[in-house]
Amino acid sequence: MPDLYVDGRWRAAAAGGRREIRCPADGTLVAEVDEATAEDTAEAIAAAHRAFHEGPWPHTSARERGDLLLRVADLLERDKDAVARMESLDTGKRLVESEYDVDDIVSVFRYYGRVAAEDAGRVVDTGNADVVSRIVHEPIGVCGLISPWNYPLLQVSWKVAPCLAAGNTFVLKPSELTPHTAIHLMRLLEEAGLPAGVGNLVLGAGPEAGAPLSEDPRVDLVSFTGGLATGRAIAAAAAPTVKKVALELGGKNPNIVFADADLEVALDYALTAVFLHSGQVCSAGARLLVEESIHDRFVDALVERAGRIRLGGPFDEKAETGPLTSAGHRDKVEAYVAAGIAEGAVLRCGGKRPDATEQPELADGYYYLPTILDRCTSDMSVTQDESFGPVLTVETFTGEDDAVATANDSIYGLAGAVWTQDAGKAQRVAGRLRMGTVWINDYHPYVPQAEWGGYKQSGVGRELGLAGLDEYRETKHVWHNIRPAEQRWFAG
Ligand code: NAD
Repeated sequence: MPDLYVDGRWRAAAAGGRREIRCPADGTLVAEVDEATAEDTAEAIAAAHRAFHEGPWPHTSARERGDLLLRVADLLERDKDAVARMESLDTGKRLVESEYDVDDIVSVFRYYGRVAAEDAGRVVDTGNADVVSRIVHEPIGVCGLISPWNYPLLQVSWKVAPCLAAGNTFVLKPSELTPHTAIHLMRLLEEAGLPAGVGNLVLGAGPEAGAPLSEDPRVDLVSFTGGLATGRAIAAAAAPTVKKVALELGGKNPNIVFADADLEVALDYALTAVFLHSGQVCSAGARLLVEESIHDRFVDALVERAGRIRLGGPFDEKAETGPLTSAGHRDKVEAYVAAGIAEGAVLRCGGKRPDATEQPELADGYYYLPTILDRCTSDMSVTQDESFGPVLTVETFTGEDDAVATANDSIYGLAGAVWTQDAGKAQRVAGRLRMGTVWINDYHPYVPQAEWGGYKQSGVGRELGLAGLDEYRETKHVWHNIRPAEQRWFAG
């Protein structure tokens, strides 16, 4: 069965391209999929454009669209095991993590299914009894949705669910490395009754299959999640047609541990913050800021526990985390660590691939050991750049002001955490951090009803929550003069 979905039909790529998808855990072939070129994307855009401008979809009731999303949530729940397995094969992540991801994805569809009809608009009080003034929400139009490989279907759901709730049509271009769950989602949308042309799927490389989504004048909005350099290129390509642009980019997120924190809990979470999914998480707490007075004991204990993290493939029940996504990505992480050491960071653990003689099953995967670089300072590239791998940099601070200044010394502003038992201090610091999400005495949780997104160069706009729905809506002011009369401004 072909893998591209255009105008309600499954079809192969026009130029006949195919791509092998391999599991990062051991290099085995998962499947071959169709590989689109710009020609396929142009056809998908044309279909989405027709469905928006000629079809009934944008004029359906919000309740009807919400019901469709609720049906998709039910179908995802029905297929949970298969979807989780697909995600694990494409990403190499542990099956249990993929299962959590599917639960989160179901919640996202349920949330937007329920809120689709909320906030239909409002009446404006103009103070003029002869005027009816209303604010109404309308869909933006054709949306280009471009997503990454680390949480493949989760990131797709953050876009597709609000996009459809608001009545738009879309062309989705998921990461070329992890296409299978996006293909499955399109099958479920079809099964749930999405009209032809409303949702379209192209698979393939970014510059080829993705770039037309930011350039084509028929696309009204491009919503992108991925790296900073790609985000800049997409914003620049979207500028000539003044598309709406939503960007969810990287982060180098500070995890701030004060001396008065519950240190055992903080230590446990510091490991999860950075090493979950081998650090391939945009909000990973990859930058530990620890109060100087507790540095030695905290970091010694952290190094000891990081050294015991067990790596393994998605179906290894003893594994605690998995591989990096590709050989190229592991090369980048290795170069990043080498640069840090050259700048003066002290390597405390990891810094290399695991020994395949000890764990032969890791030999063909893209594994890299949990790594801690100590004695870093905020002027080093290693504390400023995102490695997107299992690498923790450690800096110290003294007191609240220093913690805030060091944490904010970054071009990024996605997320961060504060650990202290002093509630006042926690709130003061949270209020001064220039980040879209701040956790206090916790790390990583999110819910679909709370907005997610970045300050500074971590992005533009918000996903999730009602603001995530607003990203996909135009706001129109309708002014109705119910007693028109001549004004005679121009007397002649
Ligand atoms: P990437 O930028 O390499 O690719 C992301 C997507 O963009 C892929 O689908 C890719 O094919 C496509 N793409 C690449 N070049 C393109 C172009 N010129 N035009 C259109 N599309 C193009 O990112 P990645 O390596 O897949 O993902 C990792 C990055 O994503 C990290 O930096 C991470 O922080 C970020 N991320 C951010 C969030 C968030 O919520 N802020 C969430 C997940 C990942």
